[in-house]
Amino acid sequence: VPVVDAVNASEKKSSSWDKIDENDPRLQIVDENQEFTPLLHDFMKTKWGLVDRGFDYNVVAVFGSQSTGKSTLLNRLFGTSFDVMNEVQRQQTTKGIWASKSTGANLLVMDVEGTDGRERGENQDFERKSALFSLAISEVLIVNMWETMVGLYNGANMGLLKTVFEVNLQLFQKQGSPKTCLFFVIRDFTGQTPLENLSATLVKDLERIWAGLVKPAGKEAALISDFFEFAFACLPHKVYASAQFNEQTDALRKRFIDKSDPGFAFKPNYHKHIPADGFPKFAESIWEKIVTNRDLDLPTQQQLLAQFRCDEISRTVFESFSEAVKGYGSQLKAGRVLENFGSEIQEITQTALKTFDQDASRYHKEVYLTKRKEFYNKMETGLRTDYILQLTNLHKKALALFTDGLAEKLKGNEGDFAVKLRESRDEADGYFRKIAESSKLQGADWSSDEYYAQFLAQLDEMASAKKKEAIDKIILGLEKSISTALAEPISLHLNEGAPDMWRKVQNTFREAVTSAEDELRRRLNGSLTLPFLFTNPTGTEDIFDMTQPGFEFSSTDIVTQVQELKIQAWNALQKTIRQEVGDAQMAERLRARFEGVFRYDDKGLPRVWTPGDDMDGQFAKAREEADKLAIRFTKFDVPLTSLDEDITHDERFDQDSLIVISPSKLQLLRDKFRRDADLLFVEAKRSIVTTTAK
Ligand code: GDP
Ligand code: MG
Repeated sequence: VPVVDAVNASEKKSSSWDKIDENDPRLQIVDENQEFTPLLHDFMKTKWGLVDRGFDYNVVAVFGSQSTGKSTLLNRLFGTSFDVMNEVQRQQTTKGIWASKSTGANLLVMDVEGTDGRERGENQDFERKSALFSLAISEVLIVNMWETMVGLYNGANMGLLKTVFEVNLQLFQKQGSPKTCLFFVIRDFTGQTPLENLSATLVKDLERIWAGLVKPAGKEAALISDFFEFAFACLPHKVYASAQFNEQTDALRKRFIDKSDPGFAFKPNYHKHIPADGFPKFAESIWEKIVTNRDLDLPTQQQLLAQFRCDEISRTVFESFSEAVKGYGSQLKAGRVLENFGSEIQEITQTALKTFDQDASRYHKEVYLTKRKEFYNKMETGLRTDYILQLTNLHKKALALFTDGLAEKLKGNEGDFAVKLRESRDEADGYFRKIAESSKLQGADWSSDEYYAQFLAQLDEMASAKKKEAIDKIILGLEKSISTALAEPISLHLNEGAPDMWRKVQNTFREAVTSAEDELRRRLNGSLTLPFLFTNPTGTEDIFDMTQPGFEFSSTDIVTQVQELKIQAWNALQKTIRQEVGDAQMAERLRARFEGVFRYDDKGLPRVWTPGDDMDGQFAKAREEADKLAIRFTKFDVPLTSLDEDITHDERFDQDSLIVISPSKLQLLRDKFRRDADLLFVEAKRSIVTTTAK
């Protein structure tokens, strides 16, 4: 049955691999339809145990005319069970390309459909392809031929070799490609011509073939020894000299199986540097390239394979990496700070890299390294998002730590506020820095600088606010005590209404302010006990500058606060005075003053008017006294220079605040008082009349 060229076949028969015999250790890797098996990886893994061998495996294939005993030889050497031609029917048995594993070695053995023979001509295309395939993937290609064929330069073997060399050179070979060993096994060896002579003949023929090749551009001067090495062995007739045949096949086996054998066939420089787990893909793509005849050379093929495999490995390892880190994202999104984040991701990424390296490092080095970097970057990018979340959460948590820590410290009344503030601030700052640093992935260029700066700005803002709050509380307390201290004495002075009343008020005010100022300085100075032990966090020169987020009450702070206190005290004084000069209070004061003069004598005894008393004169005097008192109240009447300089120089100080009762109001007050006084006068007069009338 002619083999169908399946490359362009539109209708496919059911796959050859559907009917795999579970117990068959062989695999047809290319079938009659030139389809490549999907099962090679599977077989290498489960049946042959080769997939995990890394570079520790070898590949051998066979080349030679039909029915020259190739399959017989392979089975003999490698313990395989490739089909052997039935003696009786004598027709081709091996279809396509088969593979199996040698017993006693990590050796992949490939049996290839025979060349020439009966079906020659019908199947040259497939012969050429399979020979080329064998040449491209194997380290050692056994060239099987009868002794009688040696020297038949125009024989089928040599003709095919020429074609295969040519295409191989064109498609797969580059300067520096691994060499392939052509291992000639001369069958039915009689011994009449020594092996050395046969070998020499073969080499000469090969060189002639090589010389006649059409070489691709750039390889015109290439020698056959640039790409091939040769080895030779002979075997006597299997039937006629079966004892020697057995003996010599045993010896020959050692050259393929035993690494310590001096003639060991697999030299390291034959290895194609394809890790075992990548071999199925490699072999398949070589076959694909041959079938579709796309341009390709072996190194390019290795790079493509490396890309394919590294991507595959990367995908698998990344999956387990993602699984390992996926918990972080959800915890971080819930706002938590993960204190062991750094060390944990360190371990996870290292493990992932190690796993990646294990499988991928065997592939084309440049590709591997590029893919490794890509793989690392992919992990790093994902983790960086987590790190940013961590910093955001950390920002919040560290600020809360500051607020809570300070509140806790302030519960106890002992100790210096500034020190407590500083400690709380440093604790929060230290916590942020510690976690931000320890959360980093080693070797990644992650920076927390921006986040730290933002955090620090907000922390210092909060600390300043806390400080202001504390000072405000002190000032408020002192304002209250000033108000309390002023109330009674001032009421007394004003009620007394002495000519030096304002001087007395001023003295009372001064005393109250001075003692409050002393108290304020004492409270604030308590916080200045350790000012120079702390470095200024902003690095500016002036540690006492209040605009800077310092934590000590600086001298500037104190001056400002004392001034604030004085202004507040002045306002309190104003308030106290104004409370004392209401209309009713003033009317009462004037009436009392008037009556004190009009109704009481110098000794303070109540007057009993008798006719002839100078009632008019006394009335005028009393009214004048009251009037003088009224006028005394118009203005806080002390020399401005004698008032506190800090107050009078403050821009908030209002000259008008010295006016106690406005002129128009005073006028009304005096007018009303006059009428009241007149009434009192009339009443007094009437009392005399009454007395007289009795
Ligand atoms: P293949 O087509 O090259 O794989 O050849 P086979 O291994 O199927 O063998 C073809 C025939 O050659 C079978 O009948 C074998 O018994 C016979 N044969 C095997 N080894 C030898 C040998 O060393 N010398 C000779 N003359 N015949 C052999
Ligand atoms: Mg065969």
